[in-house]
Amino acid sequence: MPQNTLQVLTDNVDLLKARASKYAVYGVLIAVCAIIIATCLVSYVQHGNVSLSGIIEAQKTNVALWLLDFTPFGFAIWGQYVSSLMAFQAGAMVVDQTNELRAHAAALERRANYEVTHDRLTDLPNQVLLRDRLAQAVQLAQQDRSRMAVLVMDLDQFKDVNDALGREQGDRLLQQVASRLRAAIQDTETVARSGGDEFAVLLPKIRSEEQAVQIAVTIGNALKAAFDLSGSKLDVQASIGISIYPDHGSSADDLLQRAEVAMYTAKQEKVSYIVYESSQEKNSPRRVTLAGELRQALEGDELLLEYQPKLSINNDGNAEVEVLSRWRHPNHGIIPPEEFIPLAERTGLIKLVTSWVLKNVCHQMAEWSSNGMHVGVSVNISAQDLHDQDLYDRVTGLLAANRIEASRLVLEITETSIMLDSERAMSMLHRLAGIGIRISIDDFGTGYSSMAHLSELPVKEIKIDKSFVLGMVDNPKYKKIVRAIIDLGHNLDMQVVAEGVADEWSYRELTALRCDSVQGDYISVPLSAPALAKWIGNAWPARLVENL
Ligand code: C2E
Ligand code: MG
Ligand code: MG
Repeated sequence: MPQNTLQVLTDNVDLLKARASKYAVYGVLIAVCAIIIATCLVSYVQHGNVSLSGIIEAQKTNVALWLLDFTPFGFAIWGQYVSSLMAFQAGAMVVDQTNELRAHAAALERRANYEVTHDRLTDLPNQVLLRDRLAQAVQLAQQDRSRMAVLVMDLDQFKDVNDALGREQGDRLLQQVASRLRAAIQDTETVARSGGDEFAVLLPKIRSEEQAVQIAVTIGNALKAAFDLSGSKLDVQASIGISIYPDHGSSADDLLQRAEVAMYTAKQEKVSYIVYESSQEKNSPRRVTLAGELRQALEGDELLLEYQPKLSINNDGNAEVEVLSRWRHPNHGIIPPEEFIPLAERTGLIKLVTSWVLKNVCHQMAEWSSNGMHVGVSVNISAQDLHDQDLYDRVTGLLAANRIEASRLVLEITETSIMLDSERAMSMLHRLAGIGIRISIDDFGTGYSSMAHLSELPVKEIKIDKSFVLGMVDNPKYKKIVRAIIDLGHNLDMQVVAEGVADEWSYRELTALRCDSVQGDYISVPLSAPALAKWIGNAWPARLVENL
């Protein structure tokens, strides 16, 4: 037992010793009673009665009574000793259990941290850890005035492997590539899986560009031998882009983006590696340049929010909307979320996007409330947000600062993202639901969530994916799917929302199928905040419900 724990236990025992224990008091009382009874008996036997003089005589002359007179002291010492022994043992037991609990909590924390920073499939560092190490390496290189390099590698025709051999074989190929990459680099270097079939290598210290090129060649050689996928041999090639600090950028973001531009150039020119040059920018796909511009877009308030009404068919009087982001790009015009949200997820910027959306939505809700408009808002969040430890504090802080009841906020997560469950993400969902925020599963029917898993989640609502609702008109099978999802949701005590309700027929069908709420262009397209206020004033929800 550690010295300081022993000291604490001894102190506790000393404290106990300073007070009379229950056992000591009982012992002393029993002994005193025994002395009184024995003295009275002796007095009676000697004098035939019990009198004061007889009792004094008995105490003066009877040796056995003298011995009995010492028993209260003996009991007092015994009682105190037994109590302090028990206190010490109980204390030691509590200390043991506390240490065990602490060790268990520390192990859970280590595992959770590992999950957030590593890729499950290959066990390599993921995008999060790569960026962290890259930022540190850039800082060190700045201090030491040294050079460092980033290599971004993408497998050629990986999609064909997935399509032809199946996802499982695709996964096995990625695992084999990862272990060859790990073997090809030094311990001081980092190899990470930065997404799909893309890997990145961080070289924290290089003497020259040639050294980075040499490592690209080594990696290319490591992939030369055919891969073995359940008996079939497969040749795999890769394209590598190289960027160097300080020649091609002075921040982690710049270096990664430029290595990616070089990688695309290598792919187009069908060479195995290429070092970045500014002239390559014109070759890079739009998504690469957009990824680089997204951070500035957030700082420059280029994102904007639209609100699409979510109409309750039961007409419970509650106005609800879903907030959808758009990017007003200075050159490309409005860029839809389906283009920039995946980019934000790939580059780790999604947490900033979600923070921006939550902040602006809460301000908007507060403004509406002050005008007497109590609108519930659904916000889309990504799987990565659930791993963000700060999400809970950020959401609760915003709700409190803007005086919004938690029940007015709905967080939509996609069915696919709940499949990427981890203990940390699940505990975040439970914490958010615990304070009354409603959790909704978006695009339901497109993923592979297990029913057992679904019933354990703190989910209040499912949203039928718009592909089924839009398809209902032409395809009776889709109507069956929609009906099955509505029944499933109701059996699990969840509200069911249909999105993509684009015409009156679908609206009436969904009403007949007892769907709870509808969202779609037939109800209203997504609107700006002022247009929504007008729409609610004019139409909500009487016009449509009366039409039924
Ligand atoms: P979602 O959450 O499923 O949103 C519904 C999408 O369906 C919206 O597309 C909406 O405009 C579209 N929609 C609604 N009714 C109809 C209809 O009747 N017909 C058709 N064809 N489409 C309809 P949008 O705004 O392009 O958003 C696409 C997706 O981008 C969203 O799907 C959501 O997953 C994601 N998204 C949007 N904003 C955010 C955001 O702030 N954060 C995150 N993480 N994702 C967002
Ligand atoms: Mg949604
Ligand atoms: Mg959806």
